[in-house]
Amino acid sequence: MDLTKIASRFRIEKGDKFRLSQIDTNDSGGPSLDKDNSQALLEGCLKRIGELQDVLYAESRHAVLAVLQGMDTAGKDGIIKHVLHAINPQGCEVHAFKQPNAEELDHTFLWRAQKRLPARGHVGVFNRSYYEDVVVVRVHPEFLDKQNLPEVSKDIWQQRFEDIRGFERHLVRNGTLVLKFFLHVSQEEQRKRLLARLDDRDKRWKFSMGDIAERALWPKYMDANEDTICATATPEAPWYVVPADRKWFARLVVASAMVGAMEGMSLQYPKVSSDALKEMAKVRKALEDQK
Ligand code: AMP
Ligand code: MG
Repeated sequence: MDLTKIASRFRIEKGDKFRLSQIDTNDSGGPSLDKDNSQALLEGCLKRIGELQDVLYAESRHAVLAVLQGMDTAGKDGIIKHVLHAINPQGCEVHAFKQPNAEELDHTFLWRAQKRLPARGHVGVFNRSYYEDVVVVRVHPEFLDKQNLPEVSKDIWQQRFEDIRGFERHLVRNGTLVLKFFLHVSQEEQRKRLLARLDDRDKRWKFSMGDIAERALWPKYMDANEDTICATATPEAPWYVVPADRKWFARLVVASAMVGAMEGMSLQYPKVSSDALKEMAKVRKALEDQK
């Protein structure tokens, strides 16, 4: 099965005509794919991600930034747990962006993300990101008051989109692969997952009263997310709008998208010069003779 094709169905590079309703949240990739056979495919992708990350780390020229966005319960934490464990922790940093603290509010909205960007050779994962500043803040414009801006232009969201496109272009030009995933869950599936959080003692800690308030604003969130994807999907920093009602399928789409994109980076282990090879041969012989 060609997994790259599955991931590319959900890749948005040019968002001007994109509608969230185009993506069925319950899509599971067609009749030949199911939860049982997906496991082996996922394992294959994870193995490949691990291999590619090894070269990324050794080469130490490029970086990978994976941004995870989505409503509460969409499965962002699950992606981190089940997909990114393929990566050697030494070359990977995950950061969860919560409500900004006082120091963060005293800087521009990109500042805290800038500080967490992956170094060359590393994979960085953002569990939420600077995209909250055009989604949750747009749904709650009162949050803007806390940002102490000297003035709020009527075009603030368009300006922020422009800033984000510029920021991501800068990252790409300097060697970072930027992949953005919107885990697209239905409101009904969220209802079931919230119920599960309430019913399962081990999941209750994840439940927040705030989730219910935000759920009530669902249409506003969908509009803000759709507008954001339209404005910030570019060939160099594409969005993947991932059907997320079935967790196994969402994980497969994210993993295969990462494989496809990382394969495209033409990563290579550093070349060893012929002089260095000759030296190594000498050292090798000396080590053998020490036996
Ligand atoms: P969670 O991801 O469930 O731990 O929740 C983190 C919360 O922080 C979510 O409700 C986000 O919407 C919120 N959050 C993250 N970034 C921002 C931001 N820039 N402004 C306001 N709220 C934010
Ligand atoms: Mg939450």
